Amino acid sequence: MEIEDIRVNYVFKNKTDLKHTLAKIAIKKHFQYRIQKSCLEAFWAKCIDENCGWYVRARSSKVSDYFRVIKYYKHHTCSLNHRNFENRQASAKVISSYFKEKFRDPGSTYRPRQIIRDMRDEHGVGVTYNNAWRAKTLAADGVRGSNEESYGLLPSYLYMLQLANPGTITRVCKDEENRFKYMFIAFGASLDGWKQSCVKDGNNQIFPVAFGIGDSENDNAWIWFFTRLKEAIGD
Ligand SMILES: [Zn+2]
Repeated sequence: MEIEDIRVNYVFKNKTDLKHTLAKIAIKKHFQYRIQKSCLEAFWAKCIDENCGWYVRARSSKVSDYFRVIKYYKHHTCSLNHRNFENRQASAKVISSYFKEKFRDPGSTYRPRQIIRDMRDEHGVGVTYNNAWRAKTLAADGVRGSNEESYGLLPSYLYMLQLANPGTITRVCKDEENRFKYMFIAFGASLDGWKQSCVKDGNNQIFPVAFGIGDSENDNAWIWFFTRLKEAIGD
């Protein structure tokens, strides 16, 4: 949830959550802070200007990760000189939280250059290319899961596919290091259709018998695919 500002007695589920919220407030209000103390039980931060009154103190109990704000002076007495375009609170992780939704579509082409532009235009904050690139990776992983996680889900997905579509044949080929290489799927309904009328459906249109995924159109990938196809439909 976006909050406008913190208050005394606000409780955060852990220190990371508290820091993340503070960073977003700092970006929104164009100030920066310095962390004075950060340990298991306490978190203190004050404005980057030594003479400014803004500060926050939060404490955790020994029995949980929760952090509660115990003191907060919200007014800045610093000059705008310290309110730089570059904001130390704009870490890649914080930046990524602004753009998560842009990565829900796997075909998203949202690029680091656009992150830099949007952070400047929408939040008035300068971001380096490196930080924008890291933010993009974090945002995409956060929404879609990492590539490793997604490949890890493949066997259970294929298993469910076969349960839901009787007669379906699926195969996965992995390399010596257990990494994904090729995949083959032939739906049970398609195989039945093939046996009855080759590749024409009831409407006299061609339908796909099988799907293959390979690294590129090379001999090895094609041989693997046609071998699986032959197993599925025979000679
Ligand atoms: Zn200040």
